Amino acid sequence: MKINTKLLHGYPVIDPETGASSIPKYQTSTFHQKDVFNHTGYSYSRFANPTVDAAEKCIAALENAEYGLAFSSGMAAINSVLFMLSNGDHLVLGKNIYGGTFQTVNDFLVRFGVECTFVDESNVQEWEEAIQPNTKMFYLESPSNPLLTITDLKEVATIAKKHNILTASDNTFMTPLSQHPLELGIDIVIHSATKFINGHSDVVAGLVVTNNEDLHTQLKMHQKALGGTLGAEDAWLMLRGVKTMGLRMEKSIANAQQIAEHLLTKPQVKNVYYPGLSTHKDHDVHVKQASDGGAVLSFELETEEQVAHLFEQCRVPIVAVSLGGVESILSYPWLMSHACMPEEERLNMGVTPTLIRLSCGIEDIEDLLSDLENSIK
Ligand SMILES: *Cc1c(COP(=O)(O)O)cnc(C)c1O
Repeated sequence: MKINTKLLHGYPVIDPETGASSIPKYQTSTFHQKDVFNHTGYSYSRFANPTVDAAEKCIAALENAEYGLAFSSGMAAINSVLFMLSNGDHLVLGKNIYGGTFQTVNDFLVRFGVECTFVDESNVQEWEEAIQPNTKMFYLESPSNPLLTITDLKEVATIAKKHNILTASDNTFMTPLSQHPLELGIDIVIHSATKFINGHSDVVAGLVVTNNEDLHTQLKMHQKALGGTLGAEDAWLMLRGVKTMGLRMEKSIANAQQIAEHLLTKPQVKNVYYPGLSTHKDHDVHVKQASDGGAVLSFELETEEQVAHLFEQCRVPIVAVSLGGVESILSYPWLMSHACMPEEERLNMGVTPTLIRLSCGIEDIEDLLSDLENSIK
């Protein structure tokens, strides 16, 4: 089944009870047991819920995975994975990981006695050199946010396997339509479904997939015990959003590619970060593992005055912290997603006061381009 067909027919899309063409919102916390000794598989919605089950089967189908789990946010999904580590374990992760992940590592894992090493994620050798006898997990994310750095997922997964190290990868930016980390040897794949998978900036949700039964069992236990289960209403909205994902992504990616190419030609734009450009430092690595450059790009202007002018003048994209909506979203990492980091750290990683991130929506490209043209002075 090809992807646009799969998005509509490749997982449970019809209610087995009634034939409803949309899996209903099973808006219930508990389930009556006709037989007190046996339940139907559903007893309490923190453990399992039919609408949430459908969302879990959906992400498993899209990632060609055996098992899927749905969470109340991308962070709940990430935390359920990171909490597989124990006191005395060592974790290696890229220094450009998502800010929330960074916070879990620094505020919780370190306090719980997990050792952590941050590496330059685009340098495969650094991953290998960071390995210690107690290294239990490599945590990856490609492309990274907001600078779109690339990690060679297959190479890093191969190193991990050689040393019996678990690999987990945040695939939010590429989505299951453009990159399949499991097929590159990664053990666990995570998504913030808040972004492109739901796609309408109206749900917060997270997803995890794996092919390994033991990992799935452990993650399922974390989902139940940590309590970050997805609600039925949000699962239903996500299932609705996902049906148009193929069309949405096609348009958003085409818009991003065209905007990135256009920005390259503008003298006011110092740098354009987009893995779909052949000028991107790791374009060759990226095209080996993904089918396109995705729908997120970032770029740097010359001055902060130009940045202020752009945010004031732009009329089409909304100005917000998120990404992955049908509407284009312009954000300012310096004061939004990365504001909680010390200035020096932000500058070190390349998040400067003149960096702007654009998540491309499905608007007409002519309007997006002319809006940028009018706003970049
Ligand atoms: C948004 C995001 C997250 C966190 O997801 P939430 O749904 O906001 O909890 C994690 N990773 C990446 C790459 C993201 O963009």
